[in-house]
Amino acid sequence: ERGRLQRLLHTPAVTMDDEKIQLLANIEMPEDAQAALKAGALGVGLFRSEFLFMGRHGQLPDEEEQYRAYKKAVEGMEGLPVTIRTVDVGADKPLDESVHDDAHLNPALGLRAIRWSLAEPAMFLTQLRAILRAAAHGKVRLLIPMLAHASEIRQTLAHIERARAQLDRRGDVYGPVQLGAMIEIPAAALSLPLFLKYFDFLSIGTNDLIQYTLAIDRADESVAHLYDPLHPAVLRLVADTIAECRAQGKDVSVCGEMAGDVTLTRLLLGLGLRSFSMHPAQILAVKQEILRSDTTKLALWAQRVRTAEDPALEMAGGYV
Ligand code: PEP
Ligand code: MG
Repeated sequence: ERGRLQRLLHTPAVTMDDEKIQLLANIEMPEDAQAALKAGALGVGLFRSEFLFMGRHGQLPDEEEQYRAYKKAVEGMEGLPVTIRTVDVGADKPLDESVHDDAHLNPALGLRAIRWSLAEPAMFLTQLRAILRAAAHGKVRLLIPMLAHASEIRQTLAHIERARAQLDRRGDVYGPVQLGAMIEIPAAALSLPLFLKYFDFLSIGTNDLIQYTLAIDRADESVAHLYDPLHPAVLRLVADTIAECRAQGKDVSVCGEMAGDVTLTRLLLGLGLRSFSMHPAQILAVKQEILRSDTTKLALWAQRVRTAEDPALEMAGGYV
């Protein structure tokens, strides 16, 4: 099976009805760019920068260290786009407690991701400067995690402007970036016009979107059986986000685990998704599903699935 999949490495990801699908990689460290290229990824859809921050005792990576790491990922992708997400710590991704205290009432609902970045402006500006400088070496897309409020969006944009002004003052070289937001809080998925007003692209983080829609801790084994990507409410938020982006001509991808799950590839295609970002090891198997799919047939079927009382049962019935 692996050998058979390997033969698809250089085959373009195109459906039977000629829809071109973008398959991107999720990476955690700059060295992972190698694996991404080897798997045939057309770019990095999610670089989880928090992995540079984890396992550090007291000292976070400074601007130079971060700049070198982002530049390495960008150069490693040889001209393909790299989506760098600003640090997303807290809850399931703890930092050393001397730098980020996770002993809050409920860390998943607490000071994590962009909330922490906005609470630590010096740290945030350092990261933004490093990313903007790395953008001088290739195509960089800047992605912001866990946004929900208009005020957070405006503050984030102001910080990006400030980081640019600081670089200008220093006379440092930096490049242009496309700006994107993660849609991973239900409130964000229900505020799409706001997000489409401010951002060039959106990326759906289904791992957290499922967690927050269903009130199921993604790391809690005792409720894992209720963690359901196919709950109609989750499908509605995912489907609406894809549809709104397409209607406005904005790029949208899914970068949560759903994107790399071959049992969901056809459903996501049917909902209109054309860009998937996943662990490099999943890319070829997803590509194989794409090559066998016809999106015109899948669109009708996907509408039936997502409006069914029990979408999993509806899917078990087959797709044509
Ligand atoms: C997600 O929430 O789906 C996502 C891609 O981000 P992470 O898994 O890093 O929280
Ligand atoms: Mg997330």
